[in-house]
Parts: sequence; C-alpha cells; structure tokens
Amino acid sequence: MSATPETLAARLEALEARIQRACLAAGRARTEVRLVAVSKTRSAEEVHAAYRLGLRDFGENYVQELCAKRESLAELSGLQWHFIGHLQRNKVREVLRGALPPVVHTVDSPRLAQELEARAAAAGLEVRVLAQVNVGGEEQKSGCAPGELGALLGALSGCAHLRVRGLMTVPPHTEDAAASRPFFDALVALRDRFGGAKILPELSMGMTQDLEHAVAAGATMLRVGTALFGERG
Ligand SMILES: *Cc1c(COP(=O)(O)O)cnc(C)c1O
Repeated sequence: MSATPETLAARLEALEARIQRACLAAGRARTEVRLVAVSKTRSAEEVHAAYRLGLRDFGENYVQELCAKRESLAELSGLQWHFIGHLQRNKVREVLRGALPPVVHTVDSPRLAQELEARAAAAGLEVRVLAQVNVGGEEQKSGCAPGELGALLGALSGCAHLRVRGLMTVPPHTEDAAASRPFFDALVALRDRFGGAKILPELSMGMTQDLEHAVAAGATMLRVGTALFGERG
C-alpha cells in the first residue's frame, strides 16, 4: 500500500514530535539531528510527496532503485540521496552517476574505498562517505569489524575525492529498542577513539524502533522508513 499525502503528513508530524521529544530529553538541539527518510520499496511519487512536506534527505538500499528514483526526481532541487545498503564494487560507477552523488553510509572495506575513490576521481566528484561498523559482530552483517576500523579510516584518509564524515551502524535486530543502546554507545566510543567529533562529526544510527536511544547516544543522522511510509510489504 502506498501512503497517501495525508497519511504521510500525519506520520511525519508524529515522527517529528518523537524526534523533538528525544532531543529535548537528551538536551540536544533539533538541528543537530538530520532525518533521512528511508524510501526503499517506495515509489518516486511517495518520495515526491515527502519532499513536498519538506523532507530533503532520502535513503536507498538498492542501486537500481536509487538510480531509477534519482532519475525520475532529478528536477527536485536540494534533494540529497543517501546510499545505506550493502555496496558491491561493481555497482559503484552506477551509484556515482550524475552530478550530485549520494552520501554513501556503507563503506566497509579499503577495497570498496579504493573503488569509490577511483570512480569519484574519474568523474571529478567529491563524495561524502561514512565508515560502516558491524558493532554487533554479526556474522552475516555488512560493516567492518571494530578492530578493522583503523585500517579502513587510514585507507579513506588517502582518498582525495572522498570526504569521511563519520560512522554508521545497524545494531542486531531485536524486539527491544533499548537493546540497541550499547551498540550505539560502542559506535560513539569508536568515534572518540579515532579523533572525536571534530574528525568524524556524523553518526548515522537509529531507525523507526530505536531512534530515541540513538538520539540519546548522540546520533546526527536517523534513518527512518516505517514510521514515515508505513510497513513495507
Ligand atoms: C530499512 C533500513 C532502515 C529503516 O528502517 P525502519 O525500521 O523502516 O525505519 C534504516 N537503515 C537501514 C540500513 C535500512 O536498511
């Protein structure tokens, strides 16, 4: 079911209230936290409706979907795409097609960093990236191991066309939102170990279920799909 503009407006209002309450509780300014609307599986029309409600940042997990929506919504000014899915090296060129590259949240290996750097250099682009860390140490999950982050950041610092903005994580899935908090804190600890907020200002963490805990821990980018667009089919 695609969300009507009215349901979307009501959901955005409720979501915005949640984020504001979380910021208030954490003693943080609302402007410190960016809402990235995760639009995977949603139509370009739904993204357009969210854009009309004032949203500007949209997150996609699949390269083909990103490219299709980016093309059909190319005339919307100020729209910033975020790539938040697992990125294969043979898809990097497609992801960077066009003049306005997405923020890539999911750089998790020096080899992927090098491929992004090569493609960004060839296209004359500057690409903002985040290093994805698998703080939960889950077998099947993307992200570098915490112990590999130093090497990954080292590789990224040698990439002249990539701007490392911070860290991203997806904690293990549970029914209990509070269970995410230790993983968010672990990402903050890694950020502090590798230079702090001056060097790595962005922390991409927190989704529909656990966004309050992410804001409390220090998130600067919330990736929210369900609370905005409804349950995915
Ligand atoms: C789907 C997805 C989200 C959004 O999840 P919701 O629970 O729908 O808010 C956030 N981050 C990533 C990496 C995702 O794949």
